[in-house]
Amino acid sequence: MEDIVHLLPDSIANQIAAGEVVQRPASVVKELLENSIDAGATDIRLVIKDAGKTHIQVIDNGKGMSVTDARMSFERHATSKIQKAEDLFKIRTMGFRGEALASIAAVAQVEMKTKRQQDELGTQLHAEASEIKKQEPTATKDGTSICVKNLFYNVPARRNFLKSNPVELRHITDEFIRVALANAEIGMTMLNNDLEMYQLDGGKLSKRIVQLFGKNYQQQLIPCQEETPHVKIEGYLGKPEFSKKTRGEQFFFVNGRYIKNHYLNHAVTTAYQGLLKEDYHPFYVLFIEMDPLHVDINVHPTKTEVKFDDDRMLYGVISSAVRQALGSFNVTPSLDFD
Ligand code: ADP
Ligand code: MG
Repeated sequence: MEDIVHLLPDSIANQIAAGEVVQRPASVVKELLENSIDAGATDIRLVIKDAGKTHIQVIDNGKGMSVTDARMSFERHATSKIQKAEDLFKIRTMGFRGEALASIAAVAQVEMKTKRQQDELGTQLHAEASEIKKQEPTATKDGTSICVKNLFYNVPARRNFLKSNPVELRHITDEFIRVALANAEIGMTMLNNDLEMYQLDGGKLSKRIVQLFGKNYQQQLIPCQEETPHVKIEGYLGKPEFSKKTRGEQFFFVNGRYIKNHYLNHAVTTAYQGLLKEDYHPFYVLFIEMDPLHVDINVHPTKTEVKFDDDRMLYGVISSAVRQALGSFNVTPSLDFD
């Protein structure tokens, strides 16, 4: 009998991997924004059309890439962010898997322009179906622009699975808001169909919250801070009376990365106990800083689910931090002395 096991061509392997990383336009937005953050950008512009279905462009003023790095960046498992196995336990960057650009280029048409400060000319390339079709020198400004066109043009099943424009746009906005909260010092702009949705100057977190959510948040923010030998908590809580019936304005970040975690959410809401009407949810933006050794972000390709060594400890620190913050703002239920 003949042997039948063979390696898949890159284009197919990348398309399979893309299924994990790129679920919808918002996934592309997240990956591109995070790459700009990792490149040290201080100004990032997101331009989308048709809720990202036909056009997603991220332009940054980060460190750019060399001619070779620009090509390499489309290879699967090609990254500048980790070198050796130990590095996995001390990750400080948003990316490290080297999968995003390879995955995106497997399921879309990608145009990249990039230039490092030290180079006279930049480089421009076009990739699609996991192949670099063209690369040439170009005059461009320092930084990187990546434009992702016609997402899933070659994967009809995926394309048909996309939701309506308002729904996809909502997902994109959610990603933009998360990155914007985690990087308040970075200037960020978002345009959809030539309409400016956000224009955010870099500054303090409180200012960013107000710019993102509205002026009425200004009077509603309670600072929250706590530090133990293992973990540092910092951020803002909404006043209890400012709580809403809808969820969705609860944000946890671990070492600058947005995460979803029901258990830690519970730590916050229980600390509000007695202060919230039934089924109301408080606003919060909380940053958890800890040694990367004690948090595993490698559980899922999109990295929004993480695993903590000691989530009980974290639960305790968070609920005590919240209780203390609410208490010092005199919003605990007052005892009735009458
Ligand atoms: P990862 O971010 O996990 O390393 P990506 O596929 O997202 O993997 O990117 C591959 C590499 O391309 C990065 O490690 C980085 O060196 C480079 N790169 C991607 N986007 C940018 C950018 N906007 N500016 C500078 N370099 C970038
Ligand atoms: Mg990346």
